[in-house]
Amino acid sequence: MKYEAVIGLEVHTQVRTRSKMFCSCPNRFGAEPNTLVCPVCMGYPGVLPVPNRQAIRQTVVAGLLTNCQIARFSKFDRKSYFYPDMPKNYQISQYDLPFCEHGYVEIGGKGFSGADLPAKKIGITRIHLEEDVAKLNHFPGASGVDYNRAGVPLMETVSEPDMRTPDEAYAYLTALKEIMQYGDISDCDMEKGQMRCDVNISLREAGTEKFGTKIEIKNLNSFRAVHRALEYEIWRQAELLDAGKTLQQETRGWNDDHGETYLMRTKEQAHDYRYFPDPDLMPFVFPAEEIDAIRAQLPELPAAMRERFVRDYELTSYDAEVLTQDRRTAAYFDRAAQLLKTPKLAANWITSELLRELSNAQQHIETCRIAPEQLAALITLIENKTINGKIGKEVFAEMFATGKDPKAIVDAKGLVQLSDAGAVAALVDQAIAANPAQVAQYQAGNPKVLQFFVGQVMKLSKGKANPQLVVELLQQKL
Ligand code: ADP
Ligand code: ZN
Ligand code: MG
Repeated sequence: MKYEAVIGLEVHTQVRTRSKMFCSCPNRFGAEPNTLVCPVCMGYPGVLPVPNRQAIRQTVVAGLLTNCQIARFSKFDRKSYFYPDMPKNYQISQYDLPFCEHGYVEIGGKGFSGADLPAKKIGITRIHLEEDVAKLNHFPGASGVDYNRAGVPLMETVSEPDMRTPDEAYAYLTALKEIMQYGDISDCDMEKGQMRCDVNISLREAGTEKFGTKIEIKNLNSFRAVHRALEYEIWRQAELLDAGKTLQQETRGWNDDHGETYLMRTKEQAHDYRYFPDPDLMPFVFPAEEIDAIRAQLPELPAAMRERFVRDYELTSYDAEVLTQDRRTAAYFDRAAQLLKTPKLAANWITSELLRELSNAQQHIETCRIAPEQLAALITLIENKTINGKIGKEVFAEMFATGKDPKAIVDAKGLVQLSDAGAVAALVDQAIAANPAQVAQYQAGNPKVLQFFVGQVMKLSKGKANPQLVVELLQQKL
C-alpha cells in the first residue's frame, strides 16, 4: 500500500448514574418523550446546575482504568453554539482542564477480521465530562425535541492519532467498551446511544512522518460502521491523492445503506465555540487521598482477568476469552471456580450447557435460576462420583427450570450413582443373558459391541450405573 492511514477516535459514553449531570431528573432511557425533565435540563434562565458527584467519580474511574493522570484542579466550561438540541445555547463541557489526561489503552488479540493483532498501546489524550443534549426526532414535515436525554452525564474520550488500520480502530473501541463495562461506568448499549463515536482519519505516504489532512466522520453508531467507514474513506482519500488532488479538512457523515461517506461541512463552516469557564460552577480540587481511595477500589479489567483464569484455573485462553466477554458471566464463573477442586469443569459447564440454555430461554446470566454455588455443588456431585455425568445433565436441566439444589433433586429422584459392584454385576449378567447374538459377535472379535452392552446396562440401571464400573465388569464377564 502506497499510503498509511492515521486514525484518532473521539468516543462519547453516557455515564450510568441514577440522576442527570446537573439536576435530579432520572437518567433513564426509553421513557415517554419529555417526561424526565425539569427547568435545569430544559435550559430555563436563572436556574443553577449542581454537579453529580457519582458521574465525576465514574469519570475518574475511567481515567484510572485507562492509565490517565487525574487532574488535581479541574473545571467546567461553556461551549457556545446554537441548535434546537440545546435551549441554553451552550453545553456545559470541559475545555482546557479535563478530569483525565495522558493515558493509554492496550489493544491486541483478535482483530475485526479474526486475524491476530500485535499488542500496542493507543494513547488517550483526554477524558472530559459534559452534559448530553436533547434528541431530535424527525417526522415527515416536522421534528420533535425530546429532552429526556438532555443533561445525561456524557464522557468524551479523545484518543491520540495512534491507530493505523480499521482493525486497530475496531480493537481499540472493543477494549474501551470492555473498560467502561467492567468499570461499571456505562452499559455501552449502542442501540440506546450510550456509546457514540466520531472518527478522524488522514492518509500519508508510507514511510513519511508528517500527517495528512484530517477528515472527521461523525455519528457512527456501531463498531462495524466505524470499520466500514474507515475502509471506505481510506479508499476515497487514496483515489483523490492518486489523482493529484489536495484534500480539505472537512466533516463527513456516514450512510450505512449506501456504504459511503458524504460531505457535511468544510473547515470554513467550522464553529467557534467561545469556550469560557462556567461561572455557575466552582472549580474542582481533588485531594490526592481521594484519588488514591478510588484507585484502591478499582475493578479488575478483563485482560487481567483472562490472565488470572488461565494461570490460576488452568483454562485455555479460548475459554478465558469466552467467559470474559461479559462481566457478569466472568463473575459467575469466578465464583463457581473458587469452590471447585477442578475449576476448569465450571468453564466447561458454563460455556457449553449454561450459555446455551440461557440463550435458548432468551435469558441473561443475571436472571439465571442456577446460582454459581449451586453449579459448583452439581459439579462436585459428579466429581466425587455421587452421580454420573449423564444424570448430571438431567439434574442440570431441572435446576435450570426450578432453581432447586442439585442434592435435593438427586435425593428426591433417587439418582445416586449405582457403584455397588454386586448390584451392577447383576445387571451386567442380565444384559449378557438377554443378548446371546451380540455376545457371539463380541467373542468373534468385534470390540464395538461393548458399547452396545454398556447401553443395555445403563438402560437397566435407569442411567444410574457407574459407567466405568460397567465397562470393567463387562470386559471381565464377556
Ligand atoms: P480538533 O481540534 O479538530 O477537534 P484535535 O486535534 O482535537 O482536532 O483532534 C481530534 C481527534 O482527531 C483526535 O482523536 C486526534 O487523535 C485526531 N487527529 C488529529 N490529527 C489527526 C490527523 N492528521 N489524522 C487523523 N486523526 C487526527
Ligand atoms: Zn432535569
Ligand atoms: Mg477536538
